[in-house]
Amino acid sequence: MTDTVSSTTRSSAPPATVTAARWAQAFADGSRDMADLLGGKGAGLAEMTSLGLPVPPGFTITTAACREYLRSGVLPQGLAAEVAHHVHQMEEATGRSLGDPGDPMLVAVRSGARFSMPGMMDTVLDIGLTDRSVVGLAARSGERFAWDCYRRLVQMYGRTVLGVEGDLFEAALTRARKRTGVPDDAALDGPTLRALVAEFRAILVASSGRDLPQDPHEQLDEAVRAVFASWNSPRARLYRSREGIAEDLGTAVNVVAMVFGNAGARSGAGVCFTRDPATGAPGAFGEYLPNAQGEDVVAGVRDTLSLASLAELDADSHRRLLQHLAGLEAHYGDLCDVEFTIEEGRLWILQTRIGKRTPAAAFRIACDLVDEGRITLDEALRRVEGAQLETLLHPTFAVHAVAQPLATGLPASPGAAVGQVALDSATAVSWAASGRPVVLVRPETSPDDLAGMVAALAVVTARGGVTSHAAVVARGMGRTCVAGAAELHIDLVERSVTGRDDIRIEEGDVVSVDGSTGDVYVGELAVRASPVAEAIEAGRAAGDDVVAASVRRLLAHADNQAALSVRANADSGADAALARRLGAQGVGLCRTEHTLLGDRRAVVENIVLDHERDQALARLQSLHRNDFLDVLRAMDTLPVVVRLLDPPLHEFLPDLTALSVAVAQQEMAGAVDPLLRARLAAVEHWHESNPMLGLRGVRLAIVVPEVLEVQVRALTEAVLDLRAEGRRPRAELMIPFVAEAAELAHVRDLVQRTIAAVAAVRGVDAPTIPLGTMIELPRAALTAAELGVECDFFSFGTNDLTQTTWGLSRDDAESGFLPAYRAAGLLRTDPFAEIDEAGVGRLVRFATREGRAVNPRLEVGVCGEHGGDPASVRFFDSVGLDYVSCSPWRVPVARLEAGRATVLRTVAGSAPDTDSR
Ligand code: PEP
Ligand code: MG
Repeated sequence: MTDTVSSTTRSSAPPATVTAARWAQAFADGSRDMADLLGGKGAGLAEMTSLGLPVPPGFTITTAACREYLRSGVLPQGLAAEVAHHVHQMEEATGRSLGDPGDPMLVAVRSGARFSMPGMMDTVLDIGLTDRSVVGLAARSGERFAWDCYRRLVQMYGRTVLGVEGDLFEAALTRARKRTGVPDDAALDGPTLRALVAEFRAILVASSGRDLPQDPHEQLDEAVRAVFASWNSPRARLYRSREGIAEDLGTAVNVVAMVFGNAGARSGAGVCFTRDPATGAPGAFGEYLPNAQGEDVVAGVRDTLSLASLAELDADSHRRLLQHLAGLEAHYGDLCDVEFTIEEGRLWILQTRIGKRTPAAAFRIACDLVDEGRITLDEALRRVEGAQLETLLHPTFAVHAVAQPLATGLPASPGAAVGQVALDSATAVSWAASGRPVVLVRPETSPDDLAGMVAALAVVTARGGVTSHAAVVARGMGRTCVAGAAELHIDLVERSVTGRDDIRIEEGDVVSVDGSTGDVYVGELAVRASPVAEAIEAGRAAGDDVVAASVRRLLAHADNQAALSVRANADSGADAALARRLGAQGVGLCRTEHTLLGDRRAVVENIVLDHERDQALARLQSLHRNDFLDVLRAMDTLPVVVRLLDPPLHEFLPDLTALSVAVAQQEMAGAVDPLLRARLAAVEHWHESNPMLGLRGVRLAIVVPEVLEVQVRALTEAVLDLRAEGRRPRAELMIPFVAEAAELAHVRDLVQRTIAAVAAVRGVDAPTIPLGTMIELPRAALTAAELGVECDFFSFGTNDLTQTTWGLSRDDAESGFLPAYRAAGLLRTDPFAEIDEAGVGRLVRFATREGRAVNPRLEVGVCGEHGGDPASVRFFDSVGLDYVSCSPWRVPVARLEAGRATVLRTVAGSAPDTDSR
């Protein structure tokens, strides 16, 4: 477990060095490559300084100093002298000195870690103001301005350094506003602010027993310690654990000469981007607030102006700003986000970093930069992620509800759907048939619900995890699904659902289901279709849809680069055709039992319970043959892996308790239907207390071989039919739940005899149908060397392999203890969603290597849900698998990640597991 966490956590701190440390560094001496030591902000300031941009003088205290402070509890030896030296240099550069009563230099002390942690750590501005120097500042810049700076210093110092409750200051400010009758803080006059400084300082003393030091060097010293310590504030820790940022990195501290955007009408502050971060459209984009500090812009206290308005107010600063933005983007080769301040007509750049962007903007910007000759297509591919594409593929809610969600479950299959709640499959089907949009809400799903799931736009279950039946089926069908919404209490008698805060709705009420967040809302939210999904499916983007065109272009490049190919899990001709339109290169898993759900279920039941068996077998063969024909036709010339029947048996047999009750009732009434009694006896015979580990997969094929024979016959006939039509079907057959090579050998003989028999009847050569095994049990993985000689391919069923390796039920995971594990920090991710590299992944790597060692032509793929998960796809690439297979709508995501995996691997200089490919 520790392995998993550390291997996916953003890089840890380097080991402590023993060389004489330099704890602080002038901006002029650093560079963008030094973010580990200088933090992101410090590295950006250093880079801009060396580029000659107007950055205020300053220096960075390194993350190494922070780590040393957090380790020892005292500031590192030598730091004080280095700080004194750099402050002196700043004084030379500004022509002012810290604490000078006549003309003071003020400094800002700002945190800045390696990875951006917005707002999580502390900052103290206006350091250097004292009772004496405030007078000098007032003489230079006006009384109101000086006292406003001083009250900000006392407030921030009190909160950050002395730990005083922030609300106390806010309450005092509110009282001052009321007393003077002004609408906001900006309208408070000098005398009021002066009185506030006195009041704030009284708060400091009352709350902490300490006052603001009147020695500016002591202020600076204390502020640095406080910023260091804020690395370990509860909110910073929480943020790091959510974002996977290592705990031991520490923050750098930037000490920067203050420049004032609040110095009057010719001053102001702004935040801008080199392109629009929402749409990716080229051209600078941002906002500006006259007579304000950066904090005011971010806090949104007043309405901001556009950059175009700045051009009217101060054409020269605007022109220079645009020049700097263009220079920064050219230099970094990416969208940059920039903070700037104008002090009395003089422009200062205070920060730059690579800007965050929406998924749509990410694709557009990456392609635009390629067209502008700034980056290669490979680099463009590195800059977009499968998770971003996933969000672009699904319909979304145009606006989110003001109301609270009724419940939040697992985002099991993305999308946005609105419909009337139906509490059982039959209701869902009948309402959908009359044209009503339906959301099927069930405690959990069973195979009986298939018809309802097909009819519904979305499925919500109170129990079950991301690989539970409902989730797998919903993803396969592209239905929105929220699973494991444990807050829901579904009353099938009263026909009502009760959720969070005891909100109760009736069957028939409208809900909105967000499969991307797991939220279920009461009422109707507006839904927007995905133009990107439409463009991929149609094979072209609508004329002016730059984002859709960019996605298609990067997908095409990913296909060219990828070592892994991508197949789809598809059970019907329609699904297979959709998957092909979405770029699948075959079907990696056709789950034959999925074609037998709903009203076809009785066929399997009758075969197993030996009721009108021959008719049932004949019907099974004919159903399968037609289904296989459809899927093979849709994938003509591409491989289609058909899997033998693999239901946990209870999914196909009548419920034992219900049957027992029915028989008992008939007994009490005095007459029992002999057929019912025989049925009960048969169900009792096959009953298993743990069906997930029972008569499934290959075991069923061995115990009831007629099912296997019928399935193989149907597949062979479908292949021969299509050949007769002049097509080139490529069927493959896969055996599930194998634990032992002897099982495989046994089944292979049966399969080959059956294929030969069908061909003989037709008088043609027996077609070659490659035979493979699923690897779903640890024993199968461990004996891969024996399995490898018995078959042509392996396909890792990582849903079951995760279940059996962890000893964790895939159907109960989320309603059981996993949430508690995550809350306790024992698990970062759901192993059913993202492959557990340290455990399950190790089995995959081992079995691949062992299998290929005995059978160099062995083809190896994965068909569990992990085949569509971005991080897992990259892992499978590193193992050297041949393909991943996933639900049709995840195919584009897997294609993108397969291409990215190659490019990322090339950049990192690592090869896939060459022993195994
Ligand atoms: C698996 O176990 O990963 C698999 C693909 O099979 P199923 O989900 O149908 O059990
Ligand atoms: Mg399985």
